[in-house]
Amino acid sequence: KGSVHRICAGQVILDLSSAVKELVENSLDAGATSVEIALRGYGKECFQVIDNGSGISPSNFKVLALKHHTSKLADFPDLQSLTTFGFRGEALSSLAALGSLTVETRTRNEPVATHLSYDHSGVLVAEKKTARQVGTTVTVKNLFSNLPVRSKEFSRNIRKEYGKLISLLNAYALIAKGVRLVCTNTTGKNVKSVVLKTQGSGSLKDNIVTLFGISIFNCLEPLSLRISDGCKVEGFLSKPGQGSGRNLGDRQFFFVNGRPVDMPKVTKLVNELYRGSNSQQHPIAIMNFTVPTGACDVNVTPDKRKVFFSDESSILQALREGLQQIYSSTNA
Ligand code: ADP
Ligand code: MG
Repeated sequence: KGSVHRICAGQVILDLSSAVKELVENSLDAGATSVEIALRGYGKECFQVIDNGSGISPSNFKVLALKHHTSKLADFPDLQSLTTFGFRGEALSSLAALGSLTVETRTRNEPVATHLSYDHSGVLVAEKKTARQVGTTVTVKNLFSNLPVRSKEFSRNIRKEYGKLISLLNAYALIAKGVRLVCTNTTGKNVKSVVLKTQGSGSLKDNIVTLFGISIFNCLEPLSLRISDGCKVEGFLSKPGQGSGRNLGDRQFFFVNGRPVDMPKVTKLVNELYRGSNSQQHPIAIMNFTVPTGACDVNVTPDKRKVFFSDESSILQALREGLQQIYSSTNA
């Protein structure tokens, strides 16, 4: 029974970045204005997401990490439409199955916080009082340690996994307005370094400047396109000839309704059109698609990262025309 769950859990939590992604989204869902991601050994030994959100009420302690437990069925209609096939209420249960899960939490109705430990089946096995501000800390140690093959892969690819995670955290740091985001990594004998830090400003522009610097921001131009009824895309793109010669994907971020996603076809299109203006370079691209429920449907892969529009060809065509116009007018 346990192993069946472990196999299923492996489909939601594919790697380090999908694990941390779930926790960060939980913190944002809980209304946090400060989210800290603390890694130990690049996340292999331990990762922790510490927030100042609503906290978890005691009535949820027992069921928190059980499969399909969620307190948010009616929340986030846009996200709901993004995740038609569910996996709602699977993050904590999957993390319990795949690593060692503890939670520290306190709502504003509680005078003290509670420290909770769960076993691999998501059953609450220990509970004690502790000191903490209002909010939640979720800690996962030794992710994948009970899946020998996956664990070996994880060790072998740790730098790559870590790089993917940092890129994902950059995406949240860019898009999360009014949320202070910090990521630290502790290695060796307690050497802790700050990997990423934003102030929780109110605008995408400020976040770009904080994360990438003003000189990079000055190479960008704002983007705002209506792509179909109710669907639009806003963000920033490299001005012609000012793209980065760095690794493709390094500074390309795509969002649907403010959630970081991969959009392979859009990525390909943006690169292709940009190359038309300069064959050597890749553009920096930060694009947020606003997709109201029903206006244009999106499909997702089980890990919720890859997103495809149902009406892909007409949306890509509209995007192509809009981008071509931008590049031809700024070239002139
Ligand atoms: P889901 O997010 O789909 O509801 P999860 O397994 O990610 O499922 O989380 C289960 C439940 O635990 C959530 O519905 C929420 O009630 C609670 N929860 C998890 N993380 C947090 C957090 N950081 N702050 C407040 N509540 C949380
Ligand atoms: Mg969740």
